[in-house]
Amino acid sequence: MDSGFTNHLKTVLAEIEADGFTKRERELVSPQGGEIRLDGVEGRVVNLCANNYLGLADEPAIVAAATAALETHGFGMASVRFICGTSELHRDLEQRIASYLGKDEAILFGSCFDANGGVFETLLTAEDAVISDSLNHASIIDGVRLSKAQRLRYANSDMNDLEAQLKAADAAGARFKLIVTDGVFSMDGYVAKLPEICALAEKYGALVMIDDCHATGHLGEKGRGTPALTGVGNRVDIISGTLGKTLGGAMGGYIAASQPIIDILRQRARPYLFSNALAPSIVAGSIKALEIAEAADDRRTRLTSHARRFRSAMADAGFELLPGETPIIPVMLNDANRATAMAQELGKRGVMVAGFSFPVVPKGKARIRTQMSAALTDADIGFAIDAFIDAGKALSII
Ligand SMILES: *Cc1c(COP(=O)(O)O)cnc(C)c1O
Repeated sequence: MDSGFTNHLKTVLAEIEADGFTKRERELVSPQGGEIRLDGVEGRVVNLCANNYLGLADEPAIVAAATAALETHGFGMASVRFICGTSELHRDLEQRIASYLGKDEAILFGSCFDANGGVFETLLTAEDAVISDSLNHASIIDGVRLSKAQRLRYANSDMNDLEAQLKAADAAGARFKLIVTDGVFSMDGYVAKLPEICALAEKYGALVMIDDCHATGHLGEKGRGTPALTGVGNRVDIISGTLGKTLGGAMGGYIAASQPIIDILRQRARPYLFSNALAPSIVAGSIKALEIAEAADDRRTRLTSHARRFRSAMADAGFELLPGETPIIPVMLNDANRATAMAQELGKRGVMVAGFSFPVVPKGKARIRTQMSAALTDADIGFAIDAFIDAGKALSII
């Protein structure tokens, strides 16, 4: 390789390191769960940073369903969906997702990143406008960039700004307008203001799309996500989601919407047309995960009760938390070095957490984002609270 290029990359890596932004991956030597084992670490570690909200990532019934599909359908599809990559399992999962979310139809993608990457370019043209919350997930930002539609951004959950952008789109002569928002903003745990968003959409004749990756399966009645949680039901036109979080945590994404929207995506969405079909074992496991999630009121109750207990104990101990009702509970350290030090101290005490600093969150808003899981026991929650208090005192944070 050209040494100039290699040296350039080394310089960039050194800058990342000097800024304290290097991400280091810890290696799990157990399945994902409430308690995990890490390479080179004695004993079990309580895990507060997985998107494993219902604890389905190592659920035996799901593993069994995936194993059975390996036997009946083999390892891989070796084709995109429209050539010879569609099995009856793929269609079954699509129909189940659609009916779970109250939509006509659903379409699977390799990931939700791909679903969001393909949806805007396919549905919108230069005559249209997309109006996007400023805190939306990177995959929405990239997907919007790929479309030729006029792009407008509103400040996070600022309904006055959203209305101003809807007016701006109208003034610019937009043919169709699409408002897009995360259902739950993953760094803060805030829920989008869907009743207000839907009301504005109806007032200005806009469509509404939500990305419910951090909600589907665990929030709202039967886990139907933020539309159920906020009572807007079917007023949301397009829902994107993932099979990589609550619904088993493997991989895959989807869009659920009306029949014509899904029909067009199947014809035109590039990540659907030009990328391999999901492996049958993942599809079969996800079907089982969806079935379990829908009936998992017990797990949802445990998740909520863990979140309430952790929140109140942490607030009582003097930690600064962002307010909210979801299983995402950000512990604010505000300073990047303090967040890193706190994560390290917690690691020493057998609790795995993720510290986030700029550019993932704004400068001066560094935090440890904790995520509750139904896989955690009451004892795990108590252990984690004690570890936070002990580490917080050791670092004079509380
Ligand atoms: C996790 C996430 C994604 C990406 O989902 P994958 O299936 O892992 O690609 C997209 N949007 C949001 C809001 C997410 O939280």
